Amino acid sequence: MHILILGGTTEASELAALIAKRPDIRATLSLAGRTQNPVLPPIPHRIGGFGGVDGLAGWMREHQVTAVIDATHPFARRMPFNVAQAADVIGVPRLTLLRPQWQPQGGDQWIEVETHEQAITALGSKPQRVFLTVGRLELEAYAAAPQHWYLARSIDPVENSQLRNVMWLTDRPPFTLEGERSLMHEHNITTLITKSSGGDATAAKLVAARELGVPVILIARPNRPVGEQVATASEALDWLRCTHGISS
Ligand code: NAP
Repeated sequence: MHILILGGTTEASELAALIAKRPDIRATLSLAGRTQNPVLPPIPHRIGGFGGVDGLAGWMREHQVTAVIDATHPFARRMPFNVAQAADVIGVPRLTLLRPQWQPQGGDQWIEVETHEQAITALGSKPQRVFLTVGRLELEAYAAAPQHWYLARSIDPVENSQLRNVMWLTDRPPFTLEGERSLMHEHNITTLITKSSGGDATAAKLVAARELGVPVILIARPNRPVGEQVATASEALDWLRCTHGISS
């Protein structure tokens, strides 16, 4: 048995932690290598792209992978499709481990959009004070709307940005409600922009926005390939028990 887990998410780390307690399960966690100082898992890991579908299928064949778990981020656009194709080529079972979407509650003012360009349109022409939490690699789109002031948060520092009128903030989830509330209050935030990532680690900003009456512009998730899907690491472990006939 050899399980390949495509990670870069809290759920992938949780699954790695569960597998680390199981000497009967052999698994490798793969990270893209985007984060400068990733938290390394307690199981064998590798870092960096495979070189497309062929490279991934070749790696899986060479390392005798018997099942693959796609636990990439809800906004990973390419890897879920590469994993689906490579699993078909090799003929191994594939599972998607994907956290549920956030759901609006009473008092929320959410505007759901498909793209950053639509988010900019939703911001409008009147200057806003925007809390921008879309990830370091996607901030640049907002350079097209220089009338707004931005509080831009990312895990790693942003270099060579065209974004003006901005305060940079580097921090790593999880974020607390108290912290998010005082950050948004202190900077007099009038709009929050976030991707519809889901998960507990970054949900506090939505609660803070609700409490402070701040509208939220939510970028919708991209499509993923169809197939078996679970929401938690323990459900993924159950799936491994079924596919590999291992004990509880
Ligand atoms: P992507 O568009 O799906 O992937 C782009 C390329 O990066 C893939 O074709 C692959 O290169 C490589 N790659 C992606 N995930 C990989 C993994 N787990 N192991 C090895 N190579 C991987 O994804 P992305 O948006 O660039 O995100 C990259 C990573 O950051 C993912 O692991 C994702 O879970 C994580 N992440 C993404 C976001 C986001 O908002 N996009 C947020 C937080 C974390 P090759 O084709 O060369 O194999």
